[in-house]
Amino acid sequence: MLGAMQDFDLRVTHLIDHAAREHGSREIVTRWADGSETRTNWAGIRHDALRMTQALRKLGVQPGDRIATLAMNHSRHLVSWYGAVGVGGILHTINPRLFDDQLEYIANHAEDLVLLYDKAFTPIIERMKPKWTTIKHFICYDNGEFEDWIGQEDGKTTWATGDERDPCMLCYTSGTTGNPKGVLYEHRSTMLHAITGLQPAIFDFDTRSVMLPVVPMFHAASWGLPWAGAAAGIKFVFSAVNDAAVLCELMNREKVTHSAGVPTVWLATFQHMDATGTTLPTLRQAIIGGSAAPRFMIERLMKAGVNVAHAWGMTETSPIGTTGAQTWDWDERSFDEQVTIKQMQGRVPFGVELRTVDLGDPTKVLPRDGQTSGALQVRGPWIIKRYFKAEADATDAEQWFDTGDVAILHPDGTLQLTDRTKDVIKSGGEWISSVELENAAVGVPGVAEAAAIGIYHPKWDERPILVVVKKAGMDVTKEAIMAHLAERVAKWWLPDAIEFVDAIPHGATGKISKKDLRDQFREYKLADA
Ligand code: AMP
Repeated sequence: MLGAMQDFDLRVTHLIDHAAREHGSREIVTRWADGSETRTNWAGIRHDALRMTQALRKLGVQPGDRIATLAMNHSRHLVSWYGAVGVGGILHTINPRLFDDQLEYIANHAEDLVLLYDKAFTPIIERMKPKWTTIKHFICYDNGEFEDWIGQEDGKTTWATGDERDPCMLCYTSGTTGNPKGVLYEHRSTMLHAITGLQPAIFDFDTRSVMLPVVPMFHAASWGLPWAGAAAGIKFVFSAVNDAAVLCELMNREKVTHSAGVPTVWLATFQHMDATGTTLPTLRQAIIGGSAAPRFMIERLMKAGVNVAHAWGMTETSPIGTTGAQTWDWDERSFDEQVTIKQMQGRVPFGVELRTVDLGDPTKVLPRDGQTSGALQVRGPWIIKRYFKAEADATDAEQWFDTGDVAILHPDGTLQLTDRTKDVIKSGGEWISSVELENAAVGVPGVAEAAAIGIYHPKWDERPILVVVKKAGMDVTKEAIMAHLAERVAKWWLPDAIEFVDAIPHGATGKISKKDLRDQFREYKLADA
């Protein structure tokens, strides 16, 4: 027997219909790369997305076809998200910072048919065009090209309909080894994820919210913000350039209440604020994720009255996995305790389940005791089952996705990330968390960035060394760093050496590339090795 409620497929086009109908005049502001600004609103975004849907149909685009974007954050990119899914297509956001061989691989693997791009990325297009074998249509967002293209249409059409489990979006994640892998989101998974994102512990959205997302629209579905923002009818302020001065100016002028970005973005913002005396009086929710938020960052934001949603997730989890929600006894906790809780990766919203298993024996599920660390696994309706084009296999039925992260689960479910399985340092049969060493090291004044890696040791197997970039114009000694670490980690975790470098290598999403760093230090010899 079926229930007797109305048919309503969870398709993401409902989000833009809702935003245009209920919040049509709510503004979408864009500050473009050339310094100009434009303003539209949710009704305008929907109208343009409908026109883009018509224009795509004229190009022969069919439901299921891949429509790629190579673009920064702006209103035309937002139009394309809804225009691509509106035609029943699959939106494929490409990260322009990928290396050429990765760019070649993912566009061909995705079999992209159309590519929309920012003028700034023309050199990439020119370089890659001969290598991309499936893209038939290239449309530039600038020089009036995009406007002219959709300008020939009247918007009098309807969205493609279909099953709520149809795919709607494709994001590739560049692992540390092998080719990038595609994560294929569904309408249903995206919709459930969007609604979940609205809650106070995560984005904390209502119609008064003004969000400047610094997290790019090409990374991990921009944390789902373009979908969740439509559900709540928030005002968006986009900046096509990632410059702290521009971001701070926009935040103050547009009275931005919410922002989201990886820790390095917040660091750059702080540096600008310190140099200029700028404050951000309207900001009240800072979403930080992608890598661990250092303690001083959380402290500084909290002292300024900003709620920090320190979140863990990955492209494979749509990406929301956990966030640093307040505990039921929050008000009884001291400020220091509150910061300590926020420094961990938080708890799951309804829909996500976590467990840890033994690093050596994945059949052994570990206790949530706040002490034992293990390989983190996750499941839920917006968690990946298998990668795009991967064959179904027996592990699909298990429905537990192996994250590649190492974590401790606390009795109340709080997640504490301790490392990546590939980065954890094994010394004398015991694990040393590279992340904890790094977190402690960046708390030393004068340390801009730090990375810990394992170096071969004949007796201990591996021993940690710490690679450090100093802050410009500041001096810091190895002894000062070691003394700071000694107060925070076990004695046998202390690095065998500290090395100063000018820069630490980063991957395409701005995270430290441990693989490249290990390559750099391949010949390194420890003093007692
Ligand atoms: P990506 O798919 O590129 O977003 O990368 C996901 C990975 O980033 C996760 O598997 C974690 O290793 C790392 N990560 C994400 N959020 C956090 C966080 N809050 N703290 C520490 N690591 C994080």
